[in-house]
Amino acid sequence: MTITNSDNNIGLYVHVPFCLKKCRYCDFLSFECHDERALSQYADALLREINARYEEWPYKVVDTVYIGGGTPSILPADDMKRIVEGIKSNFVVSLDSEITIEANPATLDDRKLEAYREAGINRISIGIQSFDNTILNLLGRAHDKNDALNAVRMAKKAGFSNINVDMMFGIPGQTLKMWRDSLRQCIFLRPEHISLYSLQIEEGTPFQKLVDRGAMERTSDRVDRTMYHDAIDMLTQAGYNLYEISNGALPGYESRHNLKYWSYKEYMGLGPGASSFMGGHRFKNTSSVLEYLEYIKKGLPPVKPEDVERYTPREEMGIYVFTGLRKTAGFDIRDFEETFKLDFFDVYDPSIISKLKGLIEMEGFVMRLTEKGLDVSNRVMAEFV
Ligand code: SF4
Repeated sequence: MTITNSDNNIGLYVHVPFCLKKCRYCDFLSFECHDERALSQYADALLREINARYEEWPYKVVDTVYIGGGTPSILPADDMKRIVEGIKSNFVVSLDSEITIEANPATLDDRKLEAYREAGINRISIGIQSFDNTILNLLGRAHDKNDALNAVRMAKKAGFSNINVDMMFGIPGQTLKMWRDSLRQCIFLRPEHISLYSLQIEEGTPFQKLVDRGAMERTSDRVDRTMYHDAIDMLTQAGYNLYEISNGALPGYESRHNLKYWSYKEYMGLGPGASSFMGGHRFKNTSSVLEYLEYIKKGLPPVKPEDVERYTPREEMGIYVFTGLRKTAGFDIRDFEETFKLDFFDVYDPSIISKLKGLIEMEGFVMRLTEKGLDVSNRVMAEFV
């Protein structure tokens, strides 16, 4: 099967797997680290990988960069500058690129923010989650409400005019009022973008252990859904466009990098555990930081054979539809057909439309979730994968 991705532009994801402290619900690839020398050595390794990857794909143009984690803002300012400069001096980075850094409020200061701006970082995503100190404490976050408020103010003062704030709901013990108050506070700060996260209790986390011991109760689906709907209403009323199931943006501030993931575009992941989708292939760097550093030191690609993900053509089509339906604007069936050189309704039985009546809708060639479908998106998407 041929997969045609005519777009020569790619998104670059850079993973920084270090945090000030581990949050009690987190199962991301991240480790507590306070050793500045180790962080600088990690930046050196990333720079070597950036150089090696450019040599592999020299003709690609980067038009979005997303530095995520972990907590990228834990790195010393000069190291972050070196990384961004390294990306720019290796890859062809388009002038109007969106360059995002994720930050934890407890790690930000004026000097770092200034260094980010100097390096050309033009979007900052601040992991705030809640403006309620009781909830922040329960989550084990490294910051409090004041740090969060200061982080947004400092980012604005440093000249960031594209700020995302992550907000979390469905947290055990979080009342509807607590959630609404926190979100109201967030909207009041007027970030250009707000990402909503429904807390999932993940295997191996302290939260999971508390649930297993009966010391913590999961939030019910009913409360979780009410919180989600409240958030959508509040965001919409405040002028945010819900362009993805759980992301709202003021007009023109949709995340260009994340839209690549939802639009079947290519991306390259750097750093341990980072995934790539390049040239029709999916692969992932080793998730072990030590192994990653070893591979880089030896000048080898940090990908183990078992980390090359092989999907059947049908699975790839499932990924296309699954991610495409996450966008509230849906996807264009003609683009699907152009990408896979197949007729959409030869792949999916046309009866799927009537089967999912009320949950998906067609307008011309565009397929998207209805409002009701947004609520049960996983059930709908499962029909296509
Ligand atoms: S700051 Fe983010 S990545 Fe780090 S431990 Fe907390 S949730 Fe995980």
